[in-house]
Amino acid sequence: MLEFDPRALAAVERLRRAGFDAALVGGCVRDSLLGIPPHDYDAATAARPEEIRALFAGCPQYDAGSRFGTVAVELDGLWVEVTTFRREEGYADHRRPDRVAFSPRLEDDLARRDFTINAMAWGPAGLVDRFGGRADLERRLVRCVGDPDRRFREDALRPLRGLRLAAQLDFALEEETAAAVRRHLPELSHVAWERVREEFLRLICSPGACRVLLDFPEMAVQVLPELGPAVGFDQRNFHHLYDVYTHSVRALEGVSPSPALRLAALLHDVGKPSTFTLDESGTGHFYGHDRAGLPLADRALERLRVDRETRERALLLIARHHLPVEDGRRWAGRWARRLGTRALLELLELKGADGAACGTPDGGQRALLDRARAQVLALEAEGACLTLRELAVDGHDALAAGLKGPAVGTALNALLDRVAQGELENDRETLLRELARFQEGM
Ligand code: ATP
Ligand code: MG
Repeated sequence: MLEFDPRALAAVERLRRAGFDAALVGGCVRDSLLGIPPHDYDAATAARPEEIRALFAGCPQYDAGSRFGTVAVELDGLWVEVTTFRREEGYADHRRPDRVAFSPRLEDDLARRDFTINAMAWGPAGLVDRFGGRADLERRLVRCVGDPDRRFREDALRPLRGLRLAAQLDFALEEETAAAVRRHLPELSHVAWERVREEFLRLICSPGACRVLLDFPEMAVQVLPELGPAVGFDQRNFHHLYDVYTHSVRALEGVSPSPALRLAALLHDVGKPSTFTLDESGTGHFYGHDRAGLPLADRALERLRVDRETRERALLLIARHHLPVEDGRRWAGRWARRLGTRALLELLELKGADGAACGTPDGGQRALLDRARAQVLALEAEGACLTLRELAVDGHDALAAGLKGPAVGTALNALLDRVAQGELENDRETLLRELARFQEGM
């Protein structure tokens, strides 16, 4: 017996009692069969959108997909998306159906779904599984419903969705589906970047991301063309066991699954191919690749329509990934003040993953990074002063000490540097004395 939220079952029951065929469908059935609690619920029904709205008139609701008439309804705090059974016809532009035809039959609605494991329903008679979804779940396979070439021609996002699902569930792609994915990935260029971004970010933050990215480098290059030269690029350096792309994917696997960190790891060495030089001994070098990579990464993230905050976090990490780390409170305070503790902790994480992804001995780097991390966490825990706002003196004090114009900012920043590095107490008396000395020195 599968377990579903009783409120989702009640929504289906209400539709059925009103005389409309209805069932839970898609991801919630798949996840439930896998023993994973569903994170959202979709129901499909023979009722038309206006009938759905009327039947749930007493519940909060909104139009969740105006083109297709999906109605989201809330039952005791649970949102369920209810969609009329439909068939889709005529995908002329690889993007979306030209026409949507409502259907009275659940079978039609299941047949239009992308993968067998997503094309099951839970109705009054139990599981409806027309395409062998359950067997594929047991075999841990992502397989198209019907002919993969046809399904991917209809909607060019599906190859990426298939890879995302494989990464999310740690499944393999069934052989014919995998071959068709490779053939149809180029058509992803017809799909809106917003839809691509959504699937791609979910993919790279999934547990199986590394394997999927290594098996399908053409997918990563389709989404981030700047990575093209990195694939197979031999680093000719004893410190590096892997080519640039493989190394980057391994670094991605080593950082937490947040979009900023994972994008930064994937793109951190994007500047390597263009800065490659060989010395007389035949060893490869990439001087300045961190800076050279910045405009490439910036362009890639902008094109992918990554939100500004994530993009800026990722770019900062890429720009700084060669920052030399030192032991002690002084280094931690200086960089926590410049970057903020969150960015600094992310940078230490990326540097650790970068080092581990070289495939060669690390010469004590890991231990150094761990100590630096402990230092930054200690600063956080003690509430160390790291911003001008937290400093025990301010602009008024600087003016009162006789400083003028730009000297005010210079003095306060210099004091903050020393406080953050642990050289001065963040104590008003002490800092006022320092301001007076600053004024004398002018
Ligand atoms: P999760 O929410 O865990 O990502 P999901 O399967 O619910 O998984 P959604 O993107 O929410 O994924 O889609 C809901 C369902 O709609 C899918 O299970 C699938 O049956 C169907 N579906 C979604 N997108 C497509 C598509 N492009 N082509 C065909 N069917 C699709
Ligand atoms: Mg879903």
